[in-house]
Amino acid sequence: MKVLSLTHKDYRNLLPDTFVPDEGVNVICGENAQGKTNLLEALWLFTGGRSFRGVRDKELVCRGKEQAKLTLSFFRDDRPQNAEIVLSGGRRTASYNGIALKSPGQLVGRVCGVIFSPEHIALVREGPAGRRAFLDSALCQLRPGYAKLLNRYQHTLSQRNALLKDIPRHVELVDTLPIWDEKLVQDGAKVVSQRKAYLELLREFAGQRYRGLSRGREVLSLSYTESAPDLREALRQGRRQDIQFGFTGSGPHRDDFSILLDGEPARTFASQGQKRSIVLALKLAEAAVLEARTGEKPIVLLDDVLSELDAGRQEYLLNHLLDYQVFITCCEPGQALRLRGGKLFSVAGGRVQPFSGTP
Ligand code: ATP
Ligand code: MG
Repeated sequence: MKVLSLTHKDYRNLLPDTFVPDEGVNVICGENAQGKTNLLEALWLFTGGRSFRGVRDKELVCRGKEQAKLTLSFFRDDRPQNAEIVLSGGRRTASYNGIALKSPGQLVGRVCGVIFSPEHIALVREGPAGRRAFLDSALCQLRPGYAKLLNRYQHTLSQRNALLKDIPRHVELVDTLPIWDEKLVQDGAKVVSQRKAYLELLREFAGQRYRGLSRGREVLSLSYTESAPDLREALRQGRRQDIQFGFTGSGPHRDDFSILLDGEPARTFASQGQKRSIVLALKLAEAAVLEARTGEKPIVLLDDVLSELDAGRQEYLLNHLLDYQVFITCCEPGQALRLRGGKLFSVAGGRVQPFSGTP
């Protein structure tokens, strides 16, 4: 898919305007705190996800204004389409081709994209929660049914946890635990199998992309690690402990995937640039899987990726995104010199303009 234009009004610090990108690569450069990431974030909201910076919707409206409005016009399935998001009073509403959606989450899968932001380095550096979130959000875009399944699992989990907390005071409640265990086992198995199948697809592409980025010097491998391969048994055995802690100790909500570089855990072994390259490889692979499955190329949003990548890695990255519509931010227009074709924009004080002058 390709974005044709983004009209934004009172979104963060961006001055109301219509942004008309190139079909290929768009480089958005400017000094710190001018609005580059805000522009990417506004585009990202249309994928139906939350802000990748993990803030509340209230923060997205320009300070002092009542509401923000974003309109995206794009080309997908061989025809122009549009979507609109209104943020007001801490709430978000959305419409698609002029029809109001019941929830903004229904935008998921209609506008597809992948995002890389410097914070995503946490995928490699931090604990399993971010890695699970990565798999889950990728799967939600890929398979609309997955979001429902995951919600149901999480709902069951919180019901079971609430019950665990009540049991010490009402011992008879322990008899109802098996009902929740069974639900958890059923949906948990589906969650795990979808995640595993997805990681299987991702692994191939990520390995290739990483090989390219590192010019064949290092090998990236990924594998899913289950907290409990036999969840029914684990729940039975962990029951006493679960009651003690008031929390379910095993299940897909405790799973992870391991990231190895040349057989060593990347978290402790990889350099800064290698960690960045791993995250990029994962994101590029996510885009490749989306494309392979939906037949549409997702838009690729890259916030501040060029720093910390050596010239070879930058070259590989830009060359491998030639067929995608890419939005890439950087501080120095000079960083974009490696680009062939595409459009250069500058952002200053919330105003986005085609770049004039020599980079
Ligand atoms: P950097 O190079 O440092 O990443 P950036 O150009 O990506 O900078 P943004 O994250 O887009 O910067 O933020 C630009 C400005 O927007 C910041 O100075 C921030 O204070 C401001 N800002 C954020 N939210 C709002 C809001 N709700 N209303 C008004 N301004 C906001
Ligand atoms: Mg930024």
